[in-house]
Amino acid sequence: MPVTNKQEQTPSADNPVRVGIIGLGTVGGSVYTLLLDNASEIARRVGRFIEVVQVGARRDNPDCKTDNVVVSRDIFDVLDNDSIDIIVELIGGTTTARDVVMQAIEKGKHVVTANKALIAEHGNEIFAAAQKKGVTVAFEAAVAGGIPIIKSIREGLSGNRIQWVAGIINGTGNFILTEMRDKGRAFADVLKEAQALGYAEADPTFDVEGIDAAHKLTIIASIAFGVPLQFDKVYTEGITRITAEDVSYAEQFGYRIKHLGITRKTDVGVELRVHPTLIPDTRLIANVDGVMNAVLVQADKVGPTLYYGAGAGGDPTASAVVADIIDVARVLTSDPDNRVPHLAFQPDALSSTPILAIEDVKTAFYLRLSALPRPGVLAKVASILSDYGINIEAVMQKELKQGGGAGRIPIVLLTQPIIEKGMNAAIEKIAALEEIVEPVMRIRLETLNND
Ligand code: NAP
Repeated sequence: MPVTNKQEQTPSADNPVRVGIIGLGTVGGSVYTLLLDNASEIARRVGRFIEVVQVGARRDNPDCKTDNVVVSRDIFDVLDNDSIDIIVELIGGTTTARDVVMQAIEKGKHVVTANKALIAEHGNEIFAAAQKKGVTVAFEAAVAGGIPIIKSIREGLSGNRIQWVAGIINGTGNFILTEMRDKGRAFADVLKEAQALGYAEADPTFDVEGIDAAHKLTIIASIAFGVPLQFDKVYTEGITRITAEDVSYAEQFGYRIKHLGITRKTDVGVELRVHPTLIPDTRLIANVDGVMNAVLVQADKVGPTLYYGAGAGGDPTASAVVADIIDVARVLTSDPDNRVPHLAFQPDALSSTPILAIEDVKTAFYLRLSALPRPGVLAKVASILSDYGINIEAVMQKELKQGGGAGRIPIVLLTQPIIEKGMNAAIEKIAALEEIVEPVMRIRLETLNND
């Protein structure tokens, strides 16, 4: 049969998929604009146009021309519009947003959201309600902004057993650590600049204390391992205690400090932890700098795969939100039982594998001690570590400090992997030595090998 050249055709404007957007801030405004800018390209992909018929916003967004759409100041009015197929929740938070999403589901509408806090904290309840009603709740933009990591793990890697996932999933924290390394600057100083540049919120707690990353990691773990969402079990440690000295010593050993979200399936349970981590500087992910995000997935058949891109910002996040809208539009007429499950595994096949307490997790460590200049300190430290079965991988004793901390000698050690409770006990003994004059600094270390 000869191949005929068909003219590029855009689907007819009849029977569009009808969307209501709730929240017209940074992401909401960008989603609205993206749907207009790329309308015909998207229609060629979906086979139908996607039309925003109503917006719920307490005030106008000057970047959006909403003249041709109904704008409701009471955002709940959008839920009463019977013509709407998909509600896009972009207000954030876990209170009003939860009401919006639960009511939308109750009314039989599909939902797309970028709200990591909502999914991590209330996702189990939301997905159960959605399952019951036969609607989809899509949340690609909730993890790593524009990077399609949910789809990659849930669908692209679905033939594999996932072994672990490690991600730089908070751009603000990564920007701060990058600046500390590049310019030797102090944490507080860089944080101020990040706030001035608009990378960090006025209240930076969610970013620098790891809560934002913990929300995202909760979601990643569920889709990687088929366990329910368990945000309350994430061990979460921020980057506020990291000093420029630590960054520099790590570098001298051939490591970078990154704020990682790590989830790993072990024989005894699932690790779920966010903390600063030394990683070898030769790893690709160690070289992800500034506000960029990256997620490294280790799976049994494909091996390691790395996903890199913009983890935040209006347009990148809108890219993920709109991909979800398109996905939902494509399955509107399909049998709910045969859609991709919300958490990648069938809801009745989620596993009760326990989440491990951080004390039961095995990692290597970086230790920085501040010692008085007396002979034999290192030998005493080595002896305590040995008593707890901890092997030293490398050690550096620095010169006597001048200026701040004068008269003290920094001792920096890397250890081999050890269960954390053993390290806690050893650190307690080391800290009690009379020559050790400051709290012991400990940072976990991961080689991110392919196992
Ligand atoms: P934003 O710029 O603060 O916009 C939020 C919008 O929702 C504002 O227009 C706000 O209205 C409205 N809103 C908030 N609470 C409301 C309430 N109770 N009732 C009515 N309207 C309310 O936030 P955003 O950055 O677009 O974030 C939206 C969602 O996307 C969040 O879940 C966030 O975590 C997620 N997300 C954002 C990014 C990003 O880069 N920004 C990346 C990934 C995911 P007012 O202006 O009147 O307060």
